[in-house]
Amino acid sequence: MHLILLRTALAGGLATAALTACGSAGGTSSDAAEGKITIVSTVAPITSIVANIAGDRARIEGVVPEGTNSHTFEPPPQVSRVMEDADIVFVNGLQLEEPTFELAEENAPDDATIVKLGDEVLPESDYLYDFSFPKEDGKPNPHLWTDPTYAIKYADVIKDTLVERDGQNAAYYEQNHETFVAKATALSDALKADQATIPAGKKQLLTYHDAYAYFAKTYGWEVIGAVQPSNFEDPQPKEIARIIDQVRERELPVIFGSEVFPSKVLEQIAKETGARYEDTLRDDDLPGEPGNPEHSWLGLMRYDYVTMINGLGGTTKALDALDVSDGAPDRATYPQ
Ligand SMILES: [Zn+2]
Repeated sequence: MHLILLRTALAGGLATAALTACGSAGGTSSDAAEGKITIVSTVAPITSIVANIAGDRARIEGVVPEGTNSHTFEPPPQVSRVMEDADIVFVNGLQLEEPTFELAEENAPDDATIVKLGDEVLPESDYLYDFSFPKEDGKPNPHLWTDPTYAIKYADVIKDTLVERDGQNAAYYEQNHETFVAKATALSDALKADQATIPAGKKQLLTYHDAYAYFAKTYGWEVIGAVQPSNFEDPQPKEIARIIDQVRERELPVIFGSEVFPSKVLEQIAKETGARYEDTLRDDDLPGEPGNPEHSWLGLMRYDYVTMINGLGGTTKALDALDVSDGAPDRATYPQ
């Protein structure tokens, strides 16, 4: 209510000056003039899910550039200006983007809604601690969005938040939500169909970046290791030797690097074990460029699943045939 009153007051002579002052990256003053709400989000896959629900009825600003290490990302000072305009801020939470969350708390208007999606959908009893996220560090594995069942839960929270903050567009958000859930469910079904073609007992992942823990639990995969240590430095030689033994013992045909974190260590492990080094998995850098149809959460996850399944000797007929285009127009800003 407070927000609406404020906007009405601004509709007088002050509007032009106020809008010029607020005109930060990406949005246009015409968005604000149309009364569109402003949403700030963090990593690109979350921005994409938000865009699938909010469509063209909101101004959406992603603030974590694609291809950066989102786990250690420190937002530059201009992000505080973006936060000043926010009606809603969506972060992943589970301690992934603490500096950005703190910036939101300090700079977003008092009546802004700040939502930690992961904390909303995952009870503490279901937190996973593992290779790069050991329990003694106190930070759970934050990568819920690589599992479609959790991405759908994120979409539920995003829809509810939008309906609450912008009730006049409720029917639009609900329709977009329904479309997104159908698309994410189709992705999940295609994944289940195609992963059944992997030779028995071979749904095993050795990755560099530790982004598939919840996915593995839901879909019956085994993450045998994630090479990246919790401090995001290179692993110790003793640890590398242990991983080499494990790859030989399991006769892994392929080990999975990350496009965001090129690794000489994985190259070395591949050379010594004969496993193929597939270095293009990605957890928060969407394929293609903003505006391309595959530049979406759906495109990202399809890419990863196809890469994993093909690498392990399966086929991907169902995933290849999937339509990964967005269900609603994506006008979000994705910093590169
Ligand atoms: Zn990550």
